[in-house]
Amino acid sequence: MTDMTEHSPVTQAAAAAVNATPSPVLPDAQTVTQVTHWTDRLFSFRVTRPASLRFRSGEFVMIGLMGDPDPKTGKQKPLLRAYSIASPSWDEELEFYSIKVQDGPLTSKLQHITPGDQIILRPKPVGTLVHDALLPGKRIWFFATGTGFAPFASLLRDPQTYEDYDQVIITHTCRDVAELEYGRQLIDSIRSDELLGELIGADNLAKLTYYPTTTREESPKMGRITALLQDGTVFRDLGIDTITPETDRAMVCGSIGLNTDLKDVLEGFGLEEGANSEPKHYVVEKAFVG
Ligand SMILES: Cc1cc2nc3c(=O)[nH]c(=O)nc-3n(C[C@H](O)[C@H](O)[C@H](O)COP(=O)(O)OP(=O)(O)OC[C@H]3O[C@@H](n4cnc5c(N)ncnc54)[C@H](O)[C@@H]3O)c2cc1C
Repeated sequence: MTDMTEHSPVTQAAAAAVNATPSPVLPDAQTVTQVTHWTDRLFSFRVTRPASLRFRSGEFVMIGLMGDPDPKTGKQKPLLRAYSIASPSWDEELEFYSIKVQDGPLTSKLQHITPGDQIILRPKPVGTLVHDALLPGKRIWFFATGTGFAPFASLLRDPQTYEDYDQVIITHTCRDVAELEYGRQLIDSIRSDELLGELIGADNLAKLTYYPTTTREESPKMGRITALLQDGTVFRDLGIDTITPETDRAMVCGSIGLNTDLKDVLEGFGLEEGANSEPKHYVVEKAFVG
């Protein structure tokens, strides 16, 4: 496997240039501080955080770039898309994990950002993948496919996740092994990073279980998570009896198809869908539309 990871942390020169910038040209501008390319379809990046932005781990915001000038008027309008914040609420910067759609209006351009560039970030966080939308329980499941890992990258670095539950299980399903890498390295960093270890606590870290699967490329665990739940493989692998409304809570973030199938599976176990206004056993959010 070729390592496509390419870190470009902000250099001192770039940071100095950023600090010297008198005022942002874009509305709601934030400065890119780091970009990492994971595959030819996936990258992550970090940006400065607006001082006033408060959010709950798991929420999303609208981010983007200025669109092309209108051919008639020459005016430019912001081109914005929903993005889960992948960093936890305590982080001084914001992190995002993104797809690169080659003909996508936003990501065909966004994939070329480098440290020092500016993006637009509307500071109005919203979303259903938040602890407040679930009733108290013993075990939390985070079910992700593709970039649907992003909100869980936030929640997995939030101490509250471990304070609220005895067991925290994250499943991540992608077609190929390389597409799991952002998540795999994030789980490694949670387990080995001194700062995160101190924040979350050694006892709490022992609660974390990572369950990656692939659907196309050969890997130690293959298959769709819905099938692996339905035939009991996940439970056998993890030494768990089953999912029950008394003990289990779940958050789901994937394609519309995955979300619909997983809702059926979870309701088959007796779980009911919750919302910010009415906390219940599980919550769902689209990782993308289409
Ligand atoms: C609540 C919410 C949260 C989101 N969070 C993220 C996030 O954290 N990271 C992220 O990359 N995207 C996320 N998206 C999708 C994002 O809003 C854009 O669709 C994406 O950035 C592509 O933008 P685009 O303008 O290049 O192409 P679009 O015109 O928006 O999309 C073109 C097509 O590309 C496909 N596509 C779009 N996004 C994805 C994706 N993430 N994975 C696989 N296929 C995709 C779809 O088939 C879509 O029809 C989220 C969407 C929603 C609704």
